[in-house]
Amino acid sequence: MTFPLVGQPGHGRTAFVRRQPVRIVDGRVEGGYTGVFELICPGCGDNPYVDYSEIPPWLQWLRGPRTLQAALEAYDQHLGPLPGPNGHRAGSLGRRPVSHPTSA
Ligand SMILES: [Zn+2]
Repeated sequence: MTFPLVGQPGHGRTAFVRRQPVRIVDGRVEGGYTGVFELICPGCGDNPYVDYSEIPPWLQWLRGPRTLQAALEAYDQHLGPLPGPNGHRAGSLGRRPVSHPTSA
């Protein structure tokens, strides 16, 4: 696994989406998980082992929580455009799941 150099596009490659824990005590999840998702970005200074109530406001904003779909979109936006052959991302060939034409 390679990481982008400092100053190059690609900040946030260490970011990830997870189901939000009910509570984190001493780095451990307590009480299971909620039904919503949060975006964790260590590159922005977030720490996945710190409880939501103990992180700075901007990291709370970043975490959300969101629905899974919204969290994935936030993840996409946070990582920024993927560098393509022409310097911009290729159309809508993203992580978005394909919508099945069979169901109306
Ligand atoms: Zn970030």
